[in-house]
Amino acid sequence: MVKSPYKRCVFFLVDGARADVMQDLIKAGELPALQRFVLDRGDYRTAVTSFPSTTGPAHVPFLTGCTPGSSDLPGIRWFDRSKPHGFTHFSQSRSYVGPGGLYMDQDLREDIRTIFEYFEQPAGVFSFLNRGLGIFENQTLLAKNWYLLYAHLTGHWQAVDDAAWRYVDRAIDRETDFLSVVFPAVDEYSHYTDPFSDDTLDAYRAFDRGLGRLAERLNLKGRLDDTLFVVSSDHGLTTTHTHFELWSFLDELGFNTLYYPKILRNGCNAASMVSGNGMAHVYLKKGDTWAERPSCDEVRAMGDTDLVEALLSQEAIDLVAVRTHDQGVIVWSRRGVAEIQETRNGLSYRVREGKDPFGYGDMPVEMSQEQALSATFDTDYPDAPYQLLKVIGSSRSGDVIVSARKGYDLRIRHEHPEHRASHGSLHRDHMHVPLFMNSEIPADHVRTVDLFPAMLSLTGHSVEGDIDGTDFVAAA
Ligand SMILES: [Zn+2]
Repeated sequence: MVKSPYKRCVFFLVDGARADVMQDLIKAGELPALQRFVLDRGDYRTAVTSFPSTTGPAHVPFLTGCTPGSSDLPGIRWFDRSKPHGFTHFSQSRSYVGPGGLYMDQDLREDIRTIFEYFEQPAGVFSFLNRGLGIFENQTLLAKNWYLLYAHLTGHWQAVDDAAWRYVDRAIDRETDFLSVVFPAVDEYSHYTDPFSDDTLDAYRAFDRGLGRLAERLNLKGRLDDTLFVVSSDHGLTTTHTHFELWSFLDELGFNTLYYPKILRNGCNAASMVSGNGMAHVYLKKGDTWAERPSCDEVRAMGDTDLVEALLSQEAIDLVAVRTHDQGVIVWSRRGVAEIQETRNGLSYRVREGKDPFGYGDMPVEMSQEQALSATFDTDYPDAPYQLLKVIGSSRSGDVIVSARKGYDLRIRHEHPEHRASHGSLHRDHMHVPLFMNSEIPADHVRTVDLFPAMLSLTGHSVEGDIDGTDFVAAA
């Protein structure tokens, strides 16, 4: 029998919250409610998010226990080579930026059961993924896009977070037993100002005030002690000094490249689908058809020059990964080349040329998923081998995956206002996220995909079906 000290769970996703910023604010006493109602009663870990470290796909692991790759949602934008190519590339292309976000529920792999489906009275506020929520349980089904549009036009993102708290109160009044709330202000102020700007830090402080009010309210109802609080984030953010237009670089190499928002084009033979904007899936048409994936050698032979070498010659690009014919990954950086393969007990990792592409020290060749996480956790690329394997497993992933160097991103045009901060890459500043729970976290190293089974077991539920996450609560 699973021990279930909590009758309900509230999951707060402070979109784009950096682990170090939250720790610094806690130390400075600037997040008193988080300290009092969560940390003093529980625990903190820096956790590793899922790649691509981007809004939308990186929310999914918390709610499904599956990585973006396993969920078939491998980016905030992607291209589906299995879809018929009509007069334009419209039906093959997907973006969850703006109204396209509504497609996420239907795009999620069909047999995945969301956390909402385990509870009697689930509710979601500004959630990207809503499968398992009815129209009344999705508290912001109709309002979400209006709020996001208003905030985009006015720059007043705090208004969205303030609205989120009003929906939280309503859900609590309706006696919800699982509530997922997304707070977009930290992410948006970071993008349009800086991850460390006054506006961004104010958004963290405002989150804390809302949390304090909610905790007092639950306390008055006698429901504070049996409510599980989980506070985390989907990615960090870093300051962006230089934009690199990936699609136009591919065109310079001889491709005719499809990209957002210009998907009503015809006859493209490459697609650049950027997430965050620090990563991109690149898809290449093999001969006359999109149906078949090019092999690694074929990828390198397309275009006017070796695509991998050409990408790595660009200052903006840090890592390039290509899927092998047997679902493995070859990854290049300027340091060297490594090959990653899934094995029965985890993964294998071998440096093939030069030095370790991630700058890792000595690494075991064979590792369990847990060993792969702890061996890489405190490096510049935490969990990169596991994350690359997972994302490349999706049929909607690119033939080439590009991770931008810190300080750079991969889109210029069609980003208004200009992005001053980015995420999406495999770098630790994007992959490390904060994790606060008002309960013990009995593991040293945690992935955000592990929170799904933890939230379920702490509320007395058992996971059904195969997931990527490990239940660190049950394991302890
Ligand atoms: Zn985000």
